[in-house]
Amino acid sequence: MLPKIFTSIKDWQAFLKKENLTHSLGFVPTMGNLHAGHQSLLERSVQENDHTLLSIFINPTQFDNHSDLENYPRTLEEDIDIARKTNVDFILIPTFSDLYPDNYTYKVQETHLSHIMEGKSRPNHFDGMLTIVLKLLLIAKPIRAYFGEKDFQQLQLVQGLAKAFFLDTEIIACPTIRDENGFALSSRNSRLSSEQYRQALLFPKLLSGQTQDSLKTIPEILSGCGFQIDYIEEHCGRRFGAVKLGNVRLIDNFCIQNSIQSSNSIPNPL
Ligand code: AMP
Repeated sequence: MLPKIFTSIKDWQAFLKKENLTHSLGFVPTMGNLHAGHQSLLERSVQENDHTLLSIFINPTQFDNHSDLENYPRTLEEDIDIARKTNVDFILIPTFSDLYPDNYTYKVQETHLSHIMEGKSRPNHFDGMLTIVLKLLLIAKPIRAYFGEKDFQQLQLVQGLAKAFFLDTEIIACPTIRDENGFALSSRNSRLSSEQYRQALLFPKLLSGQTQDSLKTIPEILSGCGFQIDYIEEHCGRRFGAVKLGNVRLIDNFCIQNSIQSSNSIPNPL
């Protein structure tokens, strides 16, 4: 069945109140251009909750680069089709003015974990991300919300947000979905040429520890192969990396210690 689509936050809130869904709602916030990674989050929510809400909103406040925002793939028809096939019940597609009545004069800041890795490379990114996630969780009022380990630092910050502000939502960590070559699915992958894609496969191969290269040699090898390095770091048995190939930015992370393989117990890297 076609999911019920809401473009107005007020309409969604009125519907939520009327139907009294909050005790059984699972929520998957996204920026659209859905792929099998997003689909795995949706499938898990459909499995674990009576109803599932998907949100699609390309959040400008978390982009530090204007052309990245401009070029972000927009595929609404296909996204709705994936949601329908995954048995999603509701889709919220809000507008900027509806979500930011304050025009982003109010924002959420974390002052510790948000200052390393992605936070250091992309100033203000996590302020925008945490602000939109808080807004969406307050609007959706889900019992559970699903986030991917692909964006591990984001996931940890959202877990911290829920704890810091006593949110009534359990944040569920979902494993990274990769293609047959071990390359993490991402909406930005479609911008890689086929040659760049072949080249990019070296990134997860080195980061995952398959080649036994060390934290010191990995950046050297990647630089030598045409990658621009943002960071390669290890925290609590997990290796994190962000690189650029041409103008496409890739991020990934791997658990490199068997002792912390569980998806749901997330170590704080600090
Ligand atoms: P995005 O639309 O990129 O903001 O992503 C929405 C959610 O999907 C976030 O929680 C991401 O971590 C998650 N996600 C994106 N790519 C993947 C993937 N390859 N595997 C698992 N989750 C993913």
